[in-house]
Amino acid sequence: MLPYSNFQDKIEKIKNGRLSLIENVNYFLKRIKNNKKLNAFNFVFEDEARLQAEIIERKIKSGSHGRLAGLVIAVKDVLSMEGKPNTCSSKILKDFNAIYTATAVQKLLDEDALIIGRTNCDEFAMGSSTENSAFGPVLNPADNERVPGGSSGGSAAAAAAELCDASLGTDTGGSIRQPAAFCGVYGLKPTYGRVSRYGLTAFASSFDSIGPFTTNIEDAAAILQVISGKDEKDSTSADLPVPDFVGNLSFNGKKPVIGFAKECFSEGLSPEIKKVAEDLLDKLKSGGFIIKEIHLPHTEYTIAAYYILTTAEASSNLARYDGARYGYRSDDSSSLLEMYKSSRTEGFGTEVKRRIMLGTYVLSAGYYDAYYKKAQKVRRLIKQDFDNAFKEVDLILTPTTPTTAFKIGEKSNNPLEMYLSDIYTTSANLSGIPGISIPAAKSSEGLPIGIQLLANQFEEVKLLQTASSQPFSKGEGLINN
Ligand code: GLN
Repeated sequence: MLPYSNFQDKIEKIKNGRLSLIENVNYFLKRIKNNKKLNAFNFVFEDEARLQAEIIERKIKSGSHGRLAGLVIAVKDVLSMEGKPNTCSSKILKDFNAIYTATAVQKLLDEDALIIGRTNCDEFAMGSSTENSAFGPVLNPADNERVPGGSSGGSAAAAAAELCDASLGTDTGGSIRQPAAFCGVYGLKPTYGRVSRYGLTAFASSFDSIGPFTTNIEDAAAILQVISGKDEKDSTSADLPVPDFVGNLSFNGKKPVIGFAKECFSEGLSPEIKKVAEDLLDKLKSGGFIIKEIHLPHTEYTIAAYYILTTAEASSNLARYDGARYGYRSDDSSSLLEMYKSSRTEGFGTEVKRRIMLGTYVLSAGYYDAYYKKAQKVRRLIKQDFDNAFKEVDLILTPTTPTTAFKIGEKSNNPLEMYLSDIYTTSANLSGIPGISIPAAKSSEGLPIGIQLLANQFEEVKLLQTASSQPFSKGEGLINN
């Protein structure tokens, strides 16, 4: 158990000498070693972390430190850090070292956060279980026979197993919120454009977003505060003021109106998770929140639209891995075309190949109108569903996932079933809105259950405020007590 409740408490304790950052970092390094079987990390920066701990501890003592001084963070292995490997858990980037640092990571470093290592994930962030990694699967800390979710499974497992204070992940269709739910931690996906994507290896550029995994809501707010904002290196980053997330964690006025949609409580949802969500709605109501039914009529088309549009974008983004410029190159080729072919055949894993082929197909001349164009129209309708809903409510509550963490291998031969585990998360990426998964309960098998809150674009303050108030702030165990 950590001797502090959140980052604010940690920094106070370091300041007044009740906590040593060096010992704290050694503690995490030891836990990383002892929990090696979880396979949460692709790379650990042991010596550098120790060195940084000394430097940052001195800064804290002298009062010249940044806003996140001493926060120990793990970073998903898709966010570049100058001079460090950036493999995206793929053989094709096996020996590739990044030549610049992602803006989100740089902002953490500028505020004296300490980066302890790079976490395992699904190859190029494509997956829902972290089984598609060239580094092997990650195990769920709550039950080692189960997956941690994906694609940011290493980041979720590292935060849940106390291998770091917090971690960064990426969310294109649920890759922060779904593993957060499976591992029992907070996972926040900001509004598209809130956080610069510069230095994030692109999967589906109009969907990708970067956000934190934490074990408490205050730390989620503190990290979002630092990584948000306009960046001239990413033209899709929003030129809007960043609100004071940290200073606005409690309500200073009316409680928000919370909506729920029948479409998110339908067939396929585990009865236990359904009960947790319904109990929470009841508790919110008795706690003075107004609860309203809303409709999201296009929910049933989200998975199809998501997998058409993201694979199309991925097929284009991943064209750059051709063996010529960087990354893996096959030895086994006699011509340039052969070299491209065999480098990509040997370098990419099965799921990535499946997505490239699907994406190429939906963009091809004969099928563009039938698939890609139609899916774009559906994306618009899904966005409109949310626009309409947010005229009536401030937040929408849904389960994060239809089931708790499944067994390793259980869905790996059935991609369609695997894709369905994103049923409640992909709509936020299709419409660019923010969402958070809150650890809400444990199932009868002792597995974490996550509840998702969604807000309108750029309304993360509302998400954080509600997540930090009753009944959510109670955290785990709601259904068992
Ligand atoms: N599981 C989803 C997919 O496989 C989401 C991935 C993500 O958000 N990066 O595409």
